[in-house]
Amino acid sequence: EAKRQGRGRSVAFEPSFHIQAAARFSLERDLRRAIAEDELRVHFQPIVDLASGELAGFESLVRWQDPVRGLLAPFHFLPLAEELGLVAEIDSWVLDATCREIGTWGADSNAFLTISVNCSDQTFLRESLAERARSAAEAAGISPDRLVLELTERALVESNAAAGALDRLRNHGLKLSIDDFGSGYSSLGLLHRLPVDALKIDRSFVSDLENSAQARAIVRAVSDLAKEIGLRVTAEGIETFAQLQAVRDAGCPLGQGYYFSRPVPPEAAARMLSQPTWQAHWPPGTRV
Ligand code: C2E
Ligand code: MG
Ligand code: MG
Ligand code: MG
Repeated sequence: EAKRQGRGRSVAFEPSFHIQAAARFSLERDLRRAIAEDELRVHFQPIVDLASGELAGFESLVRWQDPVRGLLAPFHFLPLAEELGLVAEIDSWVLDATCREIGTWGADSNAFLTISVNCSDQTFLRESLAERARSAAEAAGISPDRLVLELTERALVESNAAAGALDRLRNHGLKLSIDDFGSGYSSLGLLHRLPVDALKIDRSFVSDLENSAQARAIVRAVSDLAKEIGLRVTAEGIETFAQLQAVRDAGCPLGQGYYFSRPVPPEAAARMLSQPTWQAHWPPGTRV
């Protein structure tokens, strides 16, 4: 009985894993339709240079424009897509759509920006990924070394094939980043063994910064280490000016979060190209 209740409770938190068979079946059918009929969308969230306040790049985040349920965040469908083995198809679509959108902005306007795309563990291990990603970039006039694939710690730790997959991607000129660094399996050995170009410090550290000296120490240590070994480091989930300041004080050069902008549709992201700097929105007296 206790076990049953426990399961019942988890429904609220992980709907896509434990939904009833019928609901699950219809979600699966709808998801397959979404992929086939172009109901997926990409939204872009800016990554900001914390010293200058200038735009440094965008992260592309998938959405599902469901005709009935509206715009759905990944939480509502990616776990099921992973379970069904459909996530690599979604990731390929996202890669193409992201490059295509940015390609329409005109090469000169955005040549300085990095473009980050998330990569599920299943996608990462596909042999065809490197070639696909490079051709998606090149077809859109984007140099492949501006394309950053965000990988999970788990993919890097759990698979023996990780080193080979990383090499393949690097040989195609792509950049690689560890997403949500510190949230799970990270170890320094990982950084030593596996060649990546960037890290994203998990949002949980940023949300603790104001109240936790330990979180501040960790963000500082990771930022120092990253600088020392030549990795680009971005702090995720900056929601307040106080967090922005704490992240900057800890020496982290790049940041992302609702404080700057939520993920927005591509047209709105394109408008950010002409916005000179975010410093204009920072409180008076705090400009650097
Ligand atoms: P992520 O890659 O770590 O992306 C950051 C997530 O944090 C995004 O959620 C973003 O909207 C959210 N976020 C950004 N700034 C803030 C903030 O200041 N506060 C808070 N509370 N949240 C913030 P989103 O778009 O719902 O995506 C969730 C996760 O889904 C992503 O986490 C990523 O792991 C996965 N995902 C998204 N798009 C794709 C995709 O195209 N392919 C794959 N495989 N996974 C994706
Ligand atoms: Mg990411
Ligand atoms: Mg992340
Ligand atoms: Mg995250």
